[in-house]
Amino acid sequence: MNQKPALSVVIPVYNEETGLHLLFDRLYPALDALQIPYEILFINDGSRDRSAALLREQFQLRPEVTRVILFNGNYGQHMAIMAGFEHCRGKRVITLDADLQNPPEEIVNLLAAMNQGHDYVGTIRRTREDSAWRHWASRLMNRLREKVTHIHMTDQGCMLRAYDQRIIQAIVSCREVNTYIPALAYSFSSNPTEIVVGHEERSAGESKYSLYSLIRLNFDLITGFSILPLQFFSLLGMGLSLLSALFVIFLVLRRLIVGPEAEGVFTLFALTFFLIGILLFGIGLLGEYIGRIYQQVRDRPRFLIQGILEAPLPPEESGDA
Ligand code: UDP
Ligand code: MG
Repeated sequence: MNQKPALSVVIPVYNEETGLHLLFDRLYPALDALQIPYEILFINDGSRDRSAALLREQFQLRPEVTRVILFNGNYGQHMAIMAGFEHCRGKRVITLDADLQNPPEEIVNLLAAMNQGHDYVGTIRRTREDSAWRHWASRLMNRLREKVTHIHMTDQGCMLRAYDQRIIQAIVSCREVNTYIPALAYSFSSNPTEIVVGHEERSAGESKYSLYSLIRLNFDLITGFSILPLQFFSLLGMGLSLLSALFVIFLVLRRLIVGPEAEGVFTLFALTFFLIGILLFGIGLLGEYIGRIYQQVRDRPRFLIQGILEAPLPPEESGDA
């Protein structure tokens, strides 16, 4: 890549050996057809299969437009994209999944939306080719997240998005350990928009997100962009203390009017368990925030890059890249 490309495409890859060839076969022609200088940045997120070898082969086939960042371990999709953002050179950047769920042919539509002056183009999947429970769970999370964080994304799960270079710089300057890139980008954008895109079934292999990692991701999304849950909890605590105070007054009055009584023990137990439940939930919630503060203050490197495969820049131009 000898000059600054107009477009960088950033693709995280984790154990995708079965689908990578299909991706190459569709991605490169789609980008060649655009007739603009581009680069593709693959980030191998510590794959344990042959993905890294396949990426290396592809790099040898198209070294002028391909760059590969190799992580030493698995740091997650968003850290992989972050590394891509740190190294990309394009004036516009598009993120894409490696499993072909986001059709590369849609890139031209994203760029068209950017030509209209938008600095961030989000996407809404026309039809979702995911399992039913994923569909419902994300709709629920979408709604909750919108209420809590005030970040407007109709479809938070789709990673096919386009960003202007200024937004990329802002994202790179954030030193966040746990983050959700589309939301971060939205908060930096001045003129965001959304377009409808196609969505396909995973070309091969299986989803890398278990229920557990999806829950973690959604916690990142909410804790990273809002402290409303904490405030809600303080309010809940205040409300419950008030109710408890009223209850104590009621019990004291009963003691004075009715006299000593031993009934109602189970009601008290029920109430106590209920309150303990809320208390544990509150402590857990605090823990989510504190754990993230801890990770942040340790200030370890967010990811380790083992190597980068890229064509060397010609000597006279290497200074400004
Ligand atoms: N991915 C990654 N690191 C991970 C998990 C996923 O780089 O720890 C990549 C994966 O290779 C794919 C993208 O992130 O390119 C989306 O993953 P996946 O398709 O499994 O997620 P889903 O579509 O099920 O949300
Ligand atoms: Mg996928």
